[in-house]
Amino acid sequence: MDLCNVNEIKALLARHGFHFSKSMGQNFLIQSWVPREIAKASGAGPGAGVLEIGPGIGPLTRELSLLADRVVAVELDRALLPILSETLADRKNVEIVPGDIMKLDLPTLVQEKFSGLRAMVCANLPYNITTPVLTALLESGCFSAITVMIQREVALRICAVPGTPDYGAFSVLCQYYARPELLFDVTPQCFLPPPKVTSSVVRLTSHPAPTQVDDREHFFQVVRAAFAQRRKTLVNSLDAALNSPLKKEEIARAVVCCHFPENIRGERLSIEDFAALSKALRRYEAGLL
Ligand code: SAH
Repeated sequence: MDLCNVNEIKALLARHGFHFSKSMGQNFLIQSWVPREIAKASGAGPGAGVLEIGPGIGPLTRELSLLADRVVAVELDRALLPILSETLADRKNVEIVPGDIMKLDLPTLVQEKFSGLRAMVCANLPYNITTPVLTALLESGCFSAITVMIQREVALRICAVPGTPDYGAFSVLCQYYARPELLFDVTPQCFLPPPKVTSSVVRLTSHPAPTQVDDREHFFQVVRAAFAQRRKTLVNSLDAALNSPLKKEEIARAVVCCHFPENIRGERLSIEDFAALSKALRRYEAGLL
């Protein structure tokens, strides 16, 4: 069957007595160019093992299986399992893993399923868990690339550069681990049922952690504190949100010692700037001991 033909999809779902679940972020693709283009953009090819999250009835899974050596798709909704066995019956390089992606141990999964292959992720993500899933995928360090369809608004935040309104702690997190690219938009009419927002496809290509960062945990504490109160200056936001023994004047001195104006806002700082600031703050903290 055509996995993106809306009438065929409706007949298939009715035959299986399937009902859409809002809480599982279920919006199925009904335009065949979309899964085709997402699969192509993912870089899946010979030698690749692709992890898909939320295959639905399998349109993207099928496209990926035509390109990659192996596709492993994790699906939470058990009601979709009999449907997937039917729609992907002829795809021998596909394995469906029932379960919640948030509860899986990613390094173990990758080791077991993709040994000898280049592991990557490609998915039309359930939008309610976009940020925690992307964080877990990036932090796992297991994937050479992550290509996902997500809400356009989150895609813009991921790709944002310093000094723009969309730039925030999540932009820094994503760009610490990878180089993001905004590839194309997908309108709500391409889905059944149509979501309320426009979607975008982004590709995150992994790169080595920035060498300027020598204490990752402290670096991210500083980043989160810097953006905790966006309307405040960097010094005020750090003073309020960073769990540090430093007084506000000492934080201000660390900021100035990095050659930033004392009244700068956190959103102006690049990853390298945050790395320098994290180091300076730790030097001042050490001076207190
Ligand atoms: N890839 C399909 C479906 C996307 S909808 C398509 O493009 O048509 C999102 C899918 O993610 C649904 O199949 C939903 O059941 C599944 N899902 C939701 N939460 C999940 C989770 N925590 N782990 C794995 N799959 C999940």
